Amino acid sequence: MGVVKLRVAICGGGIGGLAHACALAKYSDITVNIYESAAKLSPFGAGIGMWPRAWNVICALGMGEDMAKITSVSPTNSTGPSLSSTVSASGTDRQSSMTVHSFSFRKSDQSNGFTFGNMFSRGPLLTFHRAQFQEVLAQHLPPSCRLHHSKRLKSYSQGRYGGPIRLSFEDGTQATCDVLVGADGIKSAVRSCLLREQAEFARYSGQPSDKQKILACKDYVSWAGSIAYRALIPVERLKEDCDQGLLVLPTTPTIYVGTDVHMIVYPVSKGQVVNLALFHFQPELQGMPYPGPWSKEVDESELFNIARFERWEPTVKHWLKHIRKPTKWAIHTVVDLPTYISGRAVLIGDAAHSCSPHQGTGAGQAIEDAYFLAELLGDPRTTLNTLPQALKVYDKFRRPWTQEASAKAMANGRYFTLHHDGFDFSHADAAAVVQKLHELTDLMIDEWKWCWTTTVEESLKAALSQLQDA
Ligand SMILES: Cc1cc2nc3c(=O)[nH]c(=O)nc-3n(C[C@H](O)[C@H](O)[C@H](O)COP(=O)(O)OP(=O)(O)OC[C@H]3O[C@@H](n4cnc5c(N)ncnc54)[C@H](O)[C@@H]3O)c2cc1C
Repeated sequence: MGVVKLRVAICGGGIGGLAHACALAKYSDITVNIYESAAKLSPFGAGIGMWPRAWNVICALGMGEDMAKITSVSPTNSTGPSLSSTVSASGTDRQSSMTVHSFSFRKSDQSNGFTFGNMFSRGPLLTFHRAQFQEVLAQHLPPSCRLHHSKRLKSYSQGRYGGPIRLSFEDGTQATCDVLVGADGIKSAVRSCLLREQAEFARYSGQPSDKQKILACKDYVSWAGSIAYRALIPVERLKEDCDQGLLVLPTTPTIYVGTDVHMIVYPVSKGQVVNLALFHFQPELQGMPYPGPWSKEVDESELFNIARFERWEPTVKHWLKHIRKPTKWAIHTVVDLPTYISGRAVLIGDAAHSCSPHQGTGAGQAIEDAYFLAELLGDPRTTLNTLPQALKVYDKFRRPWTQEASAKAMANGRYFTLHHDGFDFSHADAAAVVQKLHELTDLMIDEWKWCWTTTVEESLKAALSQLQDA
């Protein structure tokens, strides 16, 4: 290794942290240490989906080939903004040869469920087993990157006018770095420290109103009023039902919607496993404190308490029957933070903007942040002296983008559970329901299409043009 320009410490070895280390690999003048609280990489969860926007980043990082080996869907690489991106209410799908049938929407809380919309995107939603996805990221870590396990960050401190950042871990040890990247997820320790620090800076600089603004989001996270039950079902288990004519294998990801409840189903692990997430939304509880642990394994019998599934269409009952020991997640989101940076510390991924999972974009956004930040840090104009300015550019571009994406995901969650305009889907006549479902389809696709009609490169180019020489 030649002259070292920056020593980067990444707190958290999840999807965002690993992706950031991989993205920094090409900069030989940057050293990277990852500090991960877990004793080994053991991703908790089930499947994750990746849209073309994030997939293009994976490809730019040189992982496309290895990731393609573990997805069930054939990746059609989409570069550049979409030529056609939508749509269908009413089943009259306007699609071009560039588009992929990426989602079907079914009205399912009735015995005769029906498909009311189909979504077409430029490039598919690539679906992965989460553990396999994270393994590929870990395999791409450069040999120079050191991954330290069982290192839970407690706090950090930095001088206002430069000098190294000091990291303190719960095991009593310490480390130093030039840049601290908080990739430590929704319960981020870096975020707590960073916002406290910002509030103090505001007080010192005689800006008490800024201090109040920062402290006003002191809880940082809020319960979305939504519970997810996630499960992976081996196809072998489903085949046991074959003789009853009930074997349904999803080729296109499908969302089964009903009032307050929806279920998303798609294949992972090359079609050997079905990923299923069942959501229960209670709008009146949104923003309330969640009683109990945010995630835990539960008995499958609990699922039958959340809705009158005996009235739902047979396919949904079929999926429910094959679930064993699902994991229950209380969906929390990070409130819109006033900043993602403080001095030489910066937040990426869920630590900055954990959003509801209704567009399948949380991990994708973490990967985008990771890449975006790495390109700014690696640029020759970024030095120890110009670092704060580079981080300001990151905050200026990524914060509004990711916060808007969170709002869109939240809106989709409401649509999937038939919350729209106060319309009563259970009592209106059938024609009015169908009409409203078509409206909903258009709204959902409108909120979603940024995932394949835009690219990270567009905004990265604009961001790089704002870096200044030392
Ligand atoms: C039900 C559900 C479905 C989802 N589906 C999708 C999907 O289809 N597509 C998608 O893109 N996203 C999806 N997501 C979101 C996605 O899982 C997250 O956005 C993504 O994992 C965020 O990555 P991250 O690296 O920022 O955080 P995490 O993956 O949470 O990683 C944080 C890491 O930091 C470590 N850590 C925590 N605290 C400390 C500390 N103090 N010191 C050191 N290390 C620490 C943790 O152990 C962990 O390894 C879903 C989420 C949920 C809940």
